[in-house]
Amino acid sequence: MLRNPKYVYGPQNVTVPADLNFGDYFLTRIWEHRHKIALINGITDEPLTYGDIVQQAMNFAVSLTRMGVRKGDTIGLMSENRHEFWGAVVGVACAGAVLTTISTGYVKGEILHVTSISKPKYIICSPVMYKLHEKTLKSLNFVKNIILFGEEKQHSVLMYNDLVFEDNGQVKNVKFEEFQSVEVQGQTDTLAILYSSGTTGLPKGVMLTHLNVIAVCCMPPTADASVVALTITPWYHVMGLVGMLSAFITGRTAVYLAKFDVDTYLKTVDKYRTVLLTVVPPILVAICKNQSNYDLSSVKLIYSGAAPLHKDTINSVHEKFPNLEGVHQGYGATEMTLAVTKSITGNTNTHKFGSVGVVVPNTVVKVTDLETGKPLGPNERGEICAKGVLLMKGYVGKSRGSDFDDEGFYRTGDVGYYDEDRYFFIVDRVKELIKYKGYQVPPAELEAVLLQHEGIRDAAVIGVEHRTAGEVPLAFVVAQPGKTLTEAEVKEFVAERLSNPKHLRGGVRFVQQIPKSASGKLLRKELRKMLKTAKSRL
Ligand code: AMP
Repeated sequence: MLRNPKYVYGPQNVTVPADLNFGDYFLTRIWEHRHKIALINGITDEPLTYGDIVQQAMNFAVSLTRMGVRKGDTIGLMSENRHEFWGAVVGVACAGAVLTTISTGYVKGEILHVTSISKPKYIICSPVMYKLHEKTLKSLNFVKNIILFGEEKQHSVLMYNDLVFEDNGQVKNVKFEEFQSVEVQGQTDTLAILYSSGTTGLPKGVMLTHLNVIAVCCMPPTADASVVALTITPWYHVMGLVGMLSAFITGRTAVYLAKFDVDTYLKTVDKYRTVLLTVVPPILVAICKNQSNYDLSSVKLIYSGAAPLHKDTINSVHEKFPNLEGVHQGYGATEMTLAVTKSITGNTNTHKFGSVGVVVPNTVVKVTDLETGKPLGPNERGEICAKGVLLMKGYVGKSRGSDFDDEGFYRTGDVGYYDEDRYFFIVDRVKELIKYKGYQVPPAELEAVLLQHEGIRDAAVIGVEHRTAGEVPLAFVVAQPGKTLTEAEVKEFVAERLSNPKHLRGGVRFVQQIPKSASGKLLRKELRKMLKTAKSRL
């Protein structure tokens, strides 16, 4: 068979073990680093070794199995970045269960929606999340109990510490040599369910297999073991979750923060002399605007992902970090288990300004014409489609449908091109998705909420460009005849029902009708045009 000259093939020199439980694979790899520090809490300075993660994971897996958790059962995890997170993640994997991470920003309606997809048997929760959502979590009839992180015992829930620490509960420390994870079929068994709206509609459950995540861990590392990294990305998102798991494989130390605050962030860079920063673009924007005088000379490498990074930001960042060698990017999606293109680090000659890099191993990417679907050649813009070992198994309860084309490529809904050297550039998005500071804002979710308002007859939401946040959602609203509505009222209605990134920061436009096709499909392109015309009239 011949290769298609218009497709871009990643290297095929990386072998991926296909049939393992990710837990076993991961424990074996990080056991080599057991005496090294894996994590440091940037606020408390508290360290956690790789050995600690291994021990917690093994003990937790045994406890879960004793509690009746079986292969394929789902376990939820709702926690801000904190030490216990990784013992829990890997323990769930080792038990053969399916991990589902839930956004810490979610409000009640969003929690109900995503848990109705994955139906977790237990939900592991940080004390902060428990305080906020105890009632909602306890109302879920498929949840047997909550497993709580932290020291402070709560009535009627299980304590994580009791399930993982020998001196705390009935647990006996499991020996590494004697431990074995629950057997799974790595290629087909789901390791994690993460949430993404994909190209259209409400958030769906993306099923990632053990193999998907092992494949990321087998990729050539971004930086070597001696580099201290600073991470701020929330660990429930694919970039935090899979990004951290693959970073652990290298044996690096990562300093983490649970919440972004630019001053604390830069202070932490200075204090720990961090070399590598993994970020989403709005963090770089905030850093560039900050006037503080911290010593940022340790930073050599910045890795950005999850949203478009403007060239102006890249330039400004270089002024902030005197020894910065490069701002690198990865491009991917939850559906593609992190990144399908990545800049190659360590060789600045091969780094192209503004590019999201080259295709990663065991992956094929093509760019297709937006009208005809035909593959395009270099420097031609079209939809990015990807295929390979990183592609999700599918969405929970949904057929693969139009998300994949008839050759099995995932249609990303992103527009881009590759140049003559096969470097990729992302230029636009044809899917509905709005990205606010890297967070997913699915318009369909906002529209469903708006339509619950008794004064609203019809509604549509689009993203508008925003200098620091990337994009913000704006709603077009048709009021019910005879009803008067104010912008503040509509904004408040949404803010009460959806998490912070989904608030209508772009404003509300009252219109007579929402443009639709003959079949009733919402014409977002027309809405964008309407907005442009309205602006140009001002
Ligand atoms: P998520 O599943 O939340 O990671 O969102 C995936 C989407 O984020 C992609 O389909 C893109 O629209 C966008 N995205 C991710 N990485 C980049 C990047 N480096 N540049 C531009 N957009 C990106």
